[in-house]
Amino acid sequence: MDKIICIGKNYLDHAKELGDAVPTQPLVFFKPPSCLNFGPVIEIPMGKGEVHHELEIVLQLKEDAKGFDKICLGLDLTLRTVQQELKAKGHPWERGKAFPNSAVLTPWINVEEFPEFLDTPFFLKINGVVKQKGIGRDMRWSPSQLLEALRSDFKICEGDLLFTGTPAGVGPLNPGDKLEVGFSNGGHSLHCSGNFEII
Ligand code: ZN
Repeated sequence: MDKIICIGKNYLDHAKELGDAVPTQPLVFFKPPSCLNFGPVIEIPMGKGEVHHELEIVLQLKEDAKGFDKICLGLDLTLRTVQQELKAKGHPWERGKAFPNSAVLTPWINVEEFPEFLDTPFFLKINGVVKQKGIGRDMRWSPSQLLEALRSDFKICEGDLLFTGTPAGVGPLNPGDKLEVGFSNGGHSLHCSGNFEII
């Protein structure tokens, strides 16, 4: 693995809630692998404004963007106040996106074991309350379209990760919050379930 590739505003309802224009091509940013956190404890930065959760489907890529072999759910944690200040100045966002523990992952599942992942709702609960829910088929650019677009601009290495964007419902996290994520078709969590605690 070489990098974590993240897509911004890939669900129109989220672009709308940020008050942002809808991009005409995929909006891409990176996080370094040192941002990864596999839980169950997530230490977030303090004193830098709001830290938002962004719940996303994450894919593990094959070399040269020839597809993906595993999926999981991830949290693209974002220092929203910092990001908004940088955006307003037209500066890069990394100080709001690439801090330690900002790329949280659930356990992986092989795509062959869960081929219907784009048609299965996924959710984030905080302290028992649903805060985000989405379904992969609402992505503006599908995973294969994203790979096609990325291939022309970047070298994709074996094991690179792709965060595919977040649906609406982003909001702040606070120390003590208990998070639960998973895919669910209404009943119990099917796949990629994870429990995390914010400190
Ligand atoms: Zn995101």
